[in-house]
Amino acid sequence: MGKLIIFSAPSGSGKTTIVRELLKRFDCFEFSISATSRQPRGQEQDGVDYYFLSNEEFRSRVERDEFVEWEEVYAGTCYGTLKSEMERIWSKGNVIVFDVDVMGGINLKRLFGDDARSIFIMPPSVEELERRLRGRGTDSEEVILKRIAKAEFELSKAEHFDFTVVNDVLEAAVDETSKIIENFLK
Ligand code: ADP
Ligand code: 5GP
Repeated sequence: MGKLIIFSAPSGSGKTTIVRELLKRFDCFEFSISATSRQPRGQEQDGVDYYFLSNEEFRSRVERDEFVEWEEVYAGTCYGTLKSEMERIWSKGNVIVFDVDVMGGINLKRLFGDDARSIFIMPPSVEELERRLRGRGTDSEEVILKRIAKAEFELSKAEHFDFTVVNDVLEAAVDETSKIIENFLK
């Protein structure tokens, strides 16, 4: 078994932006491509950003026990980590980087213990979170409101993570996260 790093945050906190920067800094990092039952958004590609599955396909893979963990993150929309995806990355000797919802993050940490570090990316405020979600310009008003409504619950789970990093100034947040990772990989 190899190592893994787990990132969770309310949607819009800047987790994807931070993870993209870290993937450039750490050669051994490989992003765990999750499966989801939602439709691709913007420029997203199947097999790159997600494995996009129909609801039926997602459900049948759950029944075949193909997931390490999965969650219905938003009503009617499921996301999960396939066992085959973790094996694919570890077989190359790489460190797996996860971008999962808070419950997925807590579950992965529980499953992998000391081989994992879990990092919660915190927005400076809920108002700023809302600004970022709107500024991203990729989601409908309905989706934005669903995500903001969930943020309070997600923020209350930060204490279950190994580390919390506030993403106010992006570069500072990336530097702080890099230091946590360097210590873990030493
Ligand atoms: P998440 O993956 O957590 O949903 P994203 O990485 O997509 O969030 O970021 C949401 C939006 O906020 C994007 O438009 C991104 O460019 C912007 N953003 C990310 N970090 C910062 C920051 N530190 N300051 C201002 N805007 C940011
Ligand atoms: P988005 O639709 O913005 O890409 O992602 C919505 C949420 O689903 C984010 O909080 C993201 O971290 C989470 N997510 C993505 N993949 C997984 C996964 O494999 N498992 C779990 N539990 N959550 C995931």
